[in-house]
Order: sequence, then C-alpha cells, then structure tokens
Amino acid sequence: MPEDYIKDGKIKCLVCSKYFVRPISHAWQVHGLQAREYKEKYGLDLKKGIATEEYKEVMRQHVQTNGTLKNLKKGAVYRFKKGQDTNYTRSKQTKERLKVHFARVRSIEGRTITIQKITVACAECGTLKVIYPRYYKKDNNFCGVVCRNISNNKKRHEKN
Ligand SMILES: [Zn+2]
Ligand SMILES: [Zn+2]
Repeated sequence: MPEDYIKDGKIKCLVCSKYFVRPISHAWQVHGLQAREYKEKYGLDLKKGIATEEYKEVMRQHVQTNGTLKNLKKGAVYRFKKGQDTNYTRSKQTKERLKVHFARVRSIEGRTITIQKITVACAECGTLKVIYPRYYKKDNNFCGVVCRNISNNKKRHEKN
C-alpha cells in the first residue's frame, strides 16, 4: 500500500490520485471501474474492503459521535435548537460543525465538570456566603442589599 494511501480520513483513488471517502464509488462513477475491476487492476484484496484499519477507526469514531448526539436529548443541542428562530436554517455544513463542537463538549463532560463555588465573607458584617467565582468582587462582597447600602453610605461619608 502506498504511504500516502490515506490522507485526512480519505482514501487515494489509485487511478487519478485524488482523495475520496468512498473511492470505490468514485472509481465507478468517474473511471467506470467496478469494485472488482478496480481491485484487480491495482492488486487489492478482492475479498476485503479497500479501507485500512486507520480509516475504519475514523469511521467508527464518526458513528460513535453521531450516536452520542442522539442521546443528547436534554443536552446542549436540544436547548440550543429550542431557542432558535425557526425561520433560520443553518447550512448542513454548519450543522456538522456544531455536532462536532457539542460532541467535544460532551467528551469533556465525561469527566464531569462542576464549577466550584467559593465562600466569601461579607465585607460589612462578615457573614459567610457561597457564590460562583464569577460573582466575586475584590473587597466588595456583601451578604445582601442591606449590607451593601450600609457600606455605600459609609463610603459616601468618607468622601465628604
Ligand atoms: Zn479517481
Ligand atoms: Zn453582611
């Protein structure tokens, strides 16, 4: 098998040296060669498919990705679609890209990502409060509106 037989998951057509996902159907459509003729002509095993293990692995992963997405009924894809303007139809290509994107997100979540909340003390009364890190403000965390107002009033007094 030539070294560059597979490139980016595609297989080289041994007639024209271009790359195709299904070179056998390409060979038939473009070069008029039936699978058997094609294989015979280039010394390929007649009983086997022309894909190598590497190529088959790519296809397996592809199927798994699609399978995972079908199970994502309550996942990101679903919510995303729900909020979409129905008049707007994404191109097939974009959809494929989105699928891949969400599949990646999913695989990361396989290790269960949880956002760690942090405990902060109210700058005014010292009461501890559990918050998401994104709400953290340096020296400006309060347990509630009352403490925030007290603090703001004090600051106003300090200025005057
Ligand atoms: Zn060809
Ligand atoms: Zn407080």
